Amino acid sequence: MAQLSDDCFAFGGKLITIAEARALLDTRIETVADTDTVALADGLGRILAADLVAPIAVPPYANSAVDGYAVYFDDLARDAETRLTIAARAAAGHPTAHRPARGEAVRIFTGAPMPPGPDTVMMQEDCQVDGDRVAIRPGIKRGANFRAAGEDVAAGAVVLEAGHRLRPQDVGIAASLGLRQLAVRRRLRVALFSTGDELAEPGQALAPGAIYDSNRYTLAALLRVTGVELSDLGILPDSLPKIQAALGAAAERHDAIITSGGMSTGEEDHVKAAVESVGALHFWRLAIKPGRPVALGQIARVPFIGLPGNPVAVMVTYLRIARPLLLKLGGATDVEPTLYRVRAGFGYRKKRDRREYVRAWLETGEDGAPVARRFPRDGAGILSSMVEADGLVELAEDLTTLEPGAVVDYLPFSEVYS
Ligand code: AMP
Ligand code: MG
Repeated sequence: MAQLSDDCFAFGGKLITIAEARALLDTRIETVADTDTVALADGLGRILAADLVAPIAVPPYANSAVDGYAVYFDDLARDAETRLTIAARAAAGHPTAHRPARGEAVRIFTGAPMPPGPDTVMMQEDCQVDGDRVAIRPGIKRGANFRAAGEDVAAGAVVLEAGHRLRPQDVGIAASLGLRQLAVRRRLRVALFSTGDELAEPGQALAPGAIYDSNRYTLAALLRVTGVELSDLGILPDSLPKIQAALGAAAERHDAIITSGGMSTGEEDHVKAAVESVGALHFWRLAIKPGRPVALGQIARVPFIGLPGNPVAVMVTYLRIARPLLLKLGGATDVEPTLYRVRAGFGYRKKRDRREYVRAWLETGEDGAPVARRFPRDGAGILSSMVEADGLVELAEDLTTLEPGAVVDYLPFSEVYS
């Protein structure tokens, strides 16, 4: 099991771009999760711990792709109908033991093993049957409708590489190879806290000055789709000793700790001081909006991720910093979501030197291509803007004026919700 070095998150700079942050995380984060074995049916979302190598070929034998007649291509006349004798029958799961001679055809069904000899299958729609004879139209190509053994997967092939997160079709291909169990990474154990004296648990009455804790529910759901094993550790009060004790205890039993709130430099923001007193904190001033401040640190060898308090900033920083960090820590290799180039259906002005995330959704433009629409308000606390949106338009650091119709990068939430 790899370990984080003590100064894993050390960073001397002042303001850091998201790309610099991601590059630093890439070089400094190593997989901490050891390996585990799961039943195939439990493989979805898990990260492969070893290459998946095919123990057999798929399909294991040559078979027919259609219902029809298996024939020797060389028996067929080029320009005239050919009449052959139907000598045997092969259905899926019921191979024929007959070895067809030249001039013979075998009645065959989709998925049935090809009898030895014939190399081509004529679809039944293109055949005329008369008793035990079949008349075949000219024009078919050699090898038509013949599925070769191993044409899907060759025996010994690396089907999926270590570090890959399993999708439904990946579980399916492992099943087609006959595998019952998969070597995967153990799920990361992640501790989650909210911080703030104003926070109330949904279901409780709201005292004056209180709001319900939404971040913990958003983050718990995000962590679930990232595939970690979550410890929801509740709400921490704005109290230095209580935060110190809770974080210290969490570090003993988890692979990573995530908090939201308490990260600014106000006098009630104690998370920063608490982490510094029990571990090390490297305050990263990310050049993004919304999203500053994000803190990365460690308590013993456990990474600490301190997200901002504002609900929109929480989501943006989770998706762009915490999610890739956790995936890498958990053993995944492909941790960067794909952004899609779409046309902006809005104009925008922004400050240079910071990346801005605009809450957006796609509509179909007049030419049929997608156009990004923008949620009109952009406060970092307006969670309904995220509910309205289906993704984020990312506006690059050097951009100051976006003209309507310009091409922008779009991150659909669906891209990061698995
Ligand atoms: P803070 O960073 O703690 O100063 O919080 C910034 C803003 O986010 C404040 O308006 C907080 O009330 C709000 N906030 C912090 N934590 C949460 C939470 N868990 N759920 C909803 N809002 C929060
Ligand atoms: Mg607070």
